[in-house]
Amino acid sequence: MSLYIVSSRKKYNVHWVNTDKPPANERFSYKGIYDERNQAFYQSKEWRRISHWKLRHDSLCEQCLKKEPAVITPAECVDHKVGLNDDWAKRFDIDNLQSLCLSCHLKKENEERKRKRLELQQIIIEETMNELNDFE
Ligand SMILES: [Zn+2]
Repeated sequence: MSLYIVSSRKKYNVHWVNTDKPPANERFSYKGIYDERNQAFYQSKEWRRISHWKLRHDSLCEQCLKKEPAVITPAECVDHKVGLNDDWAKRFDIDNLQSLCLSCHLKKENEERKRKRLELQQIIIEETMNELNDFE
């Protein structure tokens, strides 16, 4: 699908939305994807403590274990099933954490990025339609 949007609004940096690889400086400009709050959280003592505990407790990749047949892969990182931007209150919720290998983690991040991009596209389409309706 090719979509060309000209919007006077500065609220979103929309130029990269329809390109596969946005310029690095604009890639995360969609408010909320990787903001300062999340970075500070990942550097906090509390997160280090809980993520180290989780990795010791579940040291195998939980997604690989769910495959048929199960694959035994050492976990390398701790992931929030429901992301920080989707539910900030669940950041320390043990049930919301999963141990993942890097491959499963990257796969999940890519899927999420795709979903966010579609959501943003939808917002822009709706706003553009509203702007057009205002002219009538
Ligand atoms: Zn895995």
